[in-house]
Amino acid sequence: MTEKTIGIIGGGQLGRMLAMAAARLNFRIIILEPQAGCPAAQVASEQIIAAYDDAAALAELARRCDVVTYEFENVPVLAVEKLAEDIAIYPPPKALEMAQDRLTEKRFINGCGIPTARFHSVDSQADLEAALADFGGQGVLKTRRLGYDGKGQRVYRSSADSPEGSYAALGSVPLILESFVSFEREISIIAARGIDGTIACYDPAENVHRNGILHTSTLPASISDQTATAAHAAAEKILTALGYVGVIGIEFFALANGDLIANEMAPRVHNSGHWTEAACVISQFEQHIRAVAGLPLGNPQRHSDCVMTNLVGDDILALPQWLRLDDALVHLYGKSEARPGRKMGHVTQLVR
Ligand code: AMP
Repeated sequence: MTEKTIGIIGGGQLGRMLAMAAARLNFRIIILEPQAGCPAAQVASEQIIAAYDDAAALAELARRCDVVTYEFENVPVLAVEKLAEDIAIYPPPKALEMAQDRLTEKRFINGCGIPTARFHSVDSQADLEAALADFGGQGVLKTRRLGYDGKGQRVYRSSADSPEGSYAALGSVPLILESFVSFEREISIIAARGIDGTIACYDPAENVHRNGILHTSTLPASISDQTATAAHAAAEKILTALGYVGVIGIEFFALANGDLIANEMAPRVHNSGHWTEAACVISQFEQHIRAVAGLPLGNPQRHSDCVMTNLVGDDILALPQWLRLDDALVHLYGKSEARPGRKMGHVTQLVR
């Protein structure tokens, strides 16, 4: 079998785990990332050190790879569309475009027949006040672009929470106000679509966040079979509508009555799918590599219950304790400095 080369735009831990899975299947990996010695480059065949939208670097990637993918959703869409003229790039640029702007994303998800929180586009302080009044003084204000891990957000729980100055405080950029969803739990689904249109969905994970950052993902989620089936059906609709190839992560709010409200989607492997490397034969990382390389998708079935815990910042100091646990798979990201809020690694403990 000839050795093929996969290009990955972005050099963080997701790229690292993709590169490791790809190596097992004999793929060479070239990482495009401006930061030298990044987590992904430490385990990849090569790194091109350049900005994500550097035209010469992208041309080199196209020349030297058989297919290109990416590991974060804020890759400049124009750069990716240009690259797609020369080489296969998966997931399709349309998925990036839909996921980069919360307004476009919600409209797209609703267009697939999947409910989201109600929302208003907010482009001024006056818009914000009118939108908040429409939602009875409750809502979550978010930047439309470039928000992650709860950053660029403001929550209004009652009319006592004044929106005064919020538009300017969030940078006077395009915003979206979402109605406040009183959810019972948060779940996510990791799903893949192959080049031949085959779809494989992993079981939904139940997610708990701490300081806006994913803390744990637990399998199985405490939801009914019907809710799990609805999550799978929603993922299938989204993947099909996008003509998607690769792994996607979709987050939902689960209501007390079992209904699901979609929150957001990430056109890439996802933190809430890290458990798959310990509790499934084929991890989300290998699944993504298989999909973008045109190989058959693997079986997404889970063989064990498990809990994945993120090691964020100083959590890494507890590493010796984690290493002493039975049935725990520790995965570190090669980051030398543990800053607050920085994801340093994760542990998946099987529950038997
Ligand atoms: P996000 O950046 O959209 O993933 O939001 C971060 C977290 O804020 C979510 O995981 C929820 O816990 C909470 N959140 C976001 N949007 C809403 C909403 N419309 N209603 C209630 N909670 C929300």
